[in-house]
Amino acid sequence: MPIEQIIAKGNIPRTPDHPLETTLADIFQQVGNDVDLVAHRIVHGADLFSASIRITDDVFQQIQSISHLAPLHNPVNLEGVEVARRFYPDIPHVAVFDTSFHQTMPPESFLYPIPYAYYEKHKIRKYGFHGSSHRYVLERAVQMLDAPKNRLRLISCHIGNGVSVTAIRNGQSYNTSMGLTPLAGVAMGTRSGNIDPAIIPFLERLEGMTTNDVIDILNHQSGLLGISGISNDVRVLLEHEQQGDERARLALDLFISKIHNYIGASLAKLNGADGLIFTAGIGENSPEIREKICLGLEYAGIYLDNQANWEGSGERVISSPYSPIKVMVIPTNEELIMARDGYWLSLEKAGVTG
Ligand code: AMP
Repeated sequence: MPIEQIIAKGNIPRTPDHPLETTLADIFQQVGNDVDLVAHRIVHGADLFSASIRITDDVFQQIQSISHLAPLHNPVNLEGVEVARRFYPDIPHVAVFDTSFHQTMPPESFLYPIPYAYYEKHKIRKYGFHGSSHRYVLERAVQMLDAPKNRLRLISCHIGNGVSVTAIRNGQSYNTSMGLTPLAGVAMGTRSGNIDPAIIPFLERLEGMTTNDVIDILNHQSGLLGISGISNDVRVLLEHEQQGDERARLALDLFISKIHNYIGASLAKLNGADGLIFTAGIGENSPEIREKICLGLEYAGIYLDNQANWEGSGERVISSPYSPIKVMVIPTNEELIMARDGYWLSLEKAGVTG
């Protein structure tokens, strides 16, 4: 920073015989001591954090206090912070939250229609996720459409392992499909997304399962995998669909249909849209899924372009020049958002205002 050049990147899969501490220590050893700041991705910031923040002992405790909202993510994120702070004790550590971008949602978007006391007592509300990704593509879309942020109505479709659709206006999140947890919203690779909540006790009774069993099924055995019985990977399902597999076709149709629900809701919330953005693993790489989503939306304002533009790769507009809604593919870059936030926070600390 500030020239935003990648010096090195990597990815180490965790296995039971590689605890987080040794895995991270391996990475830090390779990176060395010439580090000015560490940015940490923290999944849940609840309503305590509407922006990235330097991690002090106080901030660490605040993140701990909301860990029950993301029991699979926040504790392990904090373990990472602890290890990194031990390794790099003298430099700033910054927390970047998946939820903070969505703190601009109005109450009619973020409240669940359940007794208000549960919101007051337990902070049960929609928080939304993939914030850094939605923020990154928003910034890029503003550049690509060359229009002021406060004039643009955007629908950001982050379609990867997790899926979330966000309605953006005035450069801010106005509504998003994920909820209190990343289990809500659209159907995903292995997650169910929204279902009738009465299904949960029903399954407990009929299948003799505990609540945890059911939640585990909704997280890991549902979505594309659950319907197809084959895979959570769109590429595999497209192949099976081609070979005539009915359940693969059904899984993909249902997946598209759930995404349509949220695009439709976003169009209504925003009173139309200027841009529709596809990002993340599937959104960036699957022309078939993008086409299935966009086909049949001419009256909503989406006109497809010729095949060449439709396929291609990298950041680009894929709708026809006459399309009222510009459809864009924007490869996401969450790490860059994290690096920028860290960089700006370090400048603020040094007394520079931007
Ligand atoms: P992400 O969570 O953004 O890393 O996205 C991961 C998902 O992207 C995987 O589940 C893959 O199914 C999907 N994916 C990656 N490449 C492709 C591709 N070329 N076509 C379809 N899906 C893809």
